[in-house]
Amino acid sequence: MVIGIDMDDTICSTNERIIVEADKYDKEVLGGSGIKDINAYEFTEMMGWEKDMKGKFFADRLEYIMDNAEIKPSAKEVINKLHDEGNKIIIISFRKGKYIKDPYNLTINWLNRHGIKYDKVYVDTGEKTDECIENGVNLFIDDKESHCEDVSNAGIEVLLFTNQYNHDENRFRRVDNWDEVYSYIKEKNNGGESSN
Ligand SMILES: [Mg+2]
Repeated sequence: MVIGIDMDDTICSTNERIIVEADKYDKEVLGGSGIKDINAYEFTEMMGWEKDMKGKFFADRLEYIMDNAEIKPSAKEVINKLHDEGNKIIIISFRKGKYIKDPYNLTINWLNRHGIKYDKVYVDTGEKTDECIENGVNLFIDDKESHCEDVSNAGIEVLLFTNQYNHDENRFRRVDNWDEVYSYIKEKNNGGESSN
């Protein structure tokens, strides 16, 4: 199988790190009091920031955030097991050069540092369909609904990785963690799907 995998909030917990760093930034740089509304949908609303603060904050901190984002539980173990079992691992990330000097090297350095095996890495993608088709991806895993939608529309099977914001989405098969990804692939390869 060829498995296409997103980075942020699929392999690493980027959004959680953004909130932690935004809280610090608000207190240390802006002289604020940190998070104002923990239940807000977007982190700028959470911080009570004007919309234009997002760009300033990202220009200052996004590279650090991505470089220091924590790996999701079992991500390394499952991805490496899938790789060792003969599957191809294609990392497909939307990460842009806008706030990061070199998103490609940042990403491969992070993957190498965490010991994750992969065959190819793409950053700064558009809707991700081209990279999936080009590499013959059979299964695509992403936390973002719009990416799942585009890739699914190209006839490729997708798994929506649960994040803080996608709980209401029900068009795609959902996985909550990496162990579930592994069980799903095992079951699928054992003919679990064709038998019912
Ligand atoms: Mg993502």
